[in-house]
Amino acid sequence: MKKILFSLALLSLASQTPASVKIEEELYIIGQKPEIVRELITSGSVEVDHVSSEGFELYGRKGLSQYLDSKNVPYFDMKAVNKLAFADYPSHAQITAKLQAAAAKYPSIMKLISIGKSVKGKELWVMKISDNVNVDEVEPEFKYISSMHGDEITGREMTVGLIEEMGAKYGSDSEITEIVNNSEVYIMPSMNPDGSERKQRANANGTDLNRNFPDLSATNGNATAGIEIENQHVMKFQSGRKFSLSANFHGGTIVANYPWDSTYDRHPLDGLVQELSLSYAELNPEMSSSSEFSQGITNGADWYVVKGGMQDWSCFFYNDLQITLEVSHSKYPDYRDIPGFYKSNRNSMINYMKQVHRGAGFKINRSTISGTVAIKQVSPVSLNLGSYAFNSSEFYKVLPEGQYSFTVSEKNKAAKEITVFVERDKVTSNGNYTVLE
Ligand SMILES: [Zn+2]
Repeated sequence: MKKILFSLALLSLASQTPASVKIEEELYIIGQKPEIVRELITSGSVEVDHVSSEGFELYGRKGLSQYLDSKNVPYFDMKAVNKLAFADYPSHAQITAKLQAAAAKYPSIMKLISIGKSVKGKELWVMKISDNVNVDEVEPEFKYISSMHGDEITGREMTVGLIEEMGAKYGSDSEITEIVNNSEVYIMPSMNPDGSERKQRANANGTDLNRNFPDLSATNGNATAGIEIENQHVMKFQSGRKFSLSANFHGGTIVANYPWDSTYDRHPLDGLVQELSLSYAELNPEMSSSSEFSQGITNGADWYVVKGGMQDWSCFFYNDLQITLEVSHSKYPDYRDIPGFYKSNRNSMINYMKQVHRGAGFKINRSTISGTVAIKQVSPVSLNLGSYAFNSSEFYKVLPEGQYSFTVSEKNKAAKEITVFVERDKVTSNGNYTVLE
């Protein structure tokens, strides 16, 4: 009887968007997609992730496993597997203590900020790392966010490790020192602490946060109706800053995934988002030598379509190029393997942060000026990149190598045109900004 009820429930869910899938069961289907699973996907009642030649993850409501049993579909329960490996990982309180200790130890370059609380009231910590950390300087802004899928924990450990290493090596390691002195870096190791505590993908409301951001079809990238509280805090945080490059960490395979996730159209800067992905993948031996993904990178939608993801939202609404980094085959590897993951990702994490300097911007020497800037690439190719809004008297965008004209327009003033140059592998003091009177 239960089985019949489940299939009826599936039918009634058919008209809902995938964003409304409640996650109560987390399964791994072995092998290719059987017809019955294709039907579930089409009906919008389940969610798929990490498709590979070995199988894929399937998420859905209670009764899904029983339904698959009745159809003889082979699977295993991922939550049961996670529980075994989970025991040694730090708790949210321990992660908090580590971040507070780093902020206390390196107060000249680190400031710990809470951008709000999770459904269950846990602080959503972000570490700001920059010289003159208490001043909001005009410098290119970069961010890392990890573990919006609570059970994909490797990135949480790696980003906490990165914060600690940046603190310890500031002043002695030239790359780290250069990044800290000339950029504003924000690192959020744990976007879904409730999910991590429960060893599950979804937040405490059973929602997949990476299917819950405003879609590209939304008229307003800040609309909060139907958006989970963790995402609302990230959205507010993003709208108050000027990020131009980001990445978010996941687990379940090893690959750098670039936009778009939600449409087969190519990103207007497709070559650049591929180069950015390579800047991470090429320094990670396991990623770059992937047998599944050429050079360890993939277009998001080519792999599988995701709607309501953070990556596309950030790129589309905020001019903040973001890629998705899958850093371990196992979502919860043995805790003793974390130092190995840190080692194989460390140079990639540093190198990717540096890419925020592959760009150009301007600042106006009068406060609170807003307006628009039209960007044209002049060489090596001629390309119209469209128009972007700016506020607080500054603007910055990560761009492909070349020469550009920026036409800056503020209200009631004649437009000003400036010529700017973008080079790879060059860090300009406090960023490549042109000062306008
Ligand atoms: Zn994920």
